[in-house]
Amino acid sequence: MTQDMQTSNNPAVSTDIDVRQRFFIQDSPVRGDVVRLSRSYANTITQKPYPEAIKRLLGEMLTAASLLIGTVKIDGRLSIQLQSSDSNSLLNWAMAECDQNGIIRALASWKSDNDEQSQAWNSMTTANEAFSELGATGAGVLFINIQPEQGEPYQGIVERSHDNLADCLAHYQKQSAQIPTLINLASDALQAGGILVQMLPRTVEETVEVEQNQDAGIDDDLWTRLKMLTSTVKAEELTTLTASEIIYRLYNQENVVAPEPTALEFGCTCSREKCETAILQIGQDEMLDICEEQGGQFEMDCGFCGEIYRFDKDNIAEIFAH
Ligand SMILES: [Zn+2]
Repeated sequence: MTQDMQTSNNPAVSTDIDVRQRFFIQDSPVRGDVVRLSRSYANTITQKPYPEAIKRLLGEMLTAASLLIGTVKIDGRLSIQLQSSDSNSLLNWAMAECDQNGIIRALASWKSDNDEQSQAWNSMTTANEAFSELGATGAGVLFINIQPEQGEPYQGIVERSHDNLADCLAHYQKQSAQIPTLINLASDALQAGGILVQMLPRTVEETVEVEQNQDAGIDDDLWTRLKMLTSTVKAEELTTLTASEIIYRLYNQENVVAPEPTALEFGCTCSREKCETAILQIGQDEMLDICEEQGGQFEMDCGFCGEIYRFDKDNIAEIFAH
């Protein structure tokens, strides 16, 4: 154990909202993370007039992205993307991402073109209802995208095995990485939170030790016990308690060790430079036409953060002059 680790047996240790808190069960292959989002989440979902059910779904997706990036050893971004496979679906797509510095952002596209569609959204109050807009279980597409700062991006396709995001992701982790994983997600449209617990593979030495020392203190019931304990967490606990309170509430009988938490905050990676790259791809003549049509000024607005980038004819000429 390193010096900066502390036991989490004292729930008053920190005011840990907007964090990812790692924890370990001492002398075991179990690792977990708790994510709590408050202000970072509020800042994300106020960017668009999202229906309640989408706010909640985005809360779960942001929490999941913040949990999952803690399980991969990369510098870069991890995003979760949902894509409807049915053109009549009220939810077109949704995505949420978290980078290695704990910067989160999210965006969703939905249909509310007429009264009927708006009323349908008004009648939905849960994340699972928005999730079910992907179509029946088995339909719709879920992706996990990993974009490392260096190297090739990776995309995993998550089977739509369950009627909620958490169980689909846990199923995916178990299938793809062969790592037993528990995931719980919750969001009340103001706050979001979740927990991920994994039993990592034992090393060869550890496996031998387990086989040779059945009574030497190796805790074979630990995973069964953690599954049971983790299943007792209530949605309102995940959205109201702090991260260390959640860990204490669930595992206070276990030997928990928790390093310093990682702060999470809302932020965007858009920039004028990225807009210029897009403009270069569209081409000068077409850009000048668009500019003309829009009264001499062209606007690109970022859906994630609301930033508006304006370009006039001189700007466009400038971009293509380089
Ligand atoms: Zn932006």
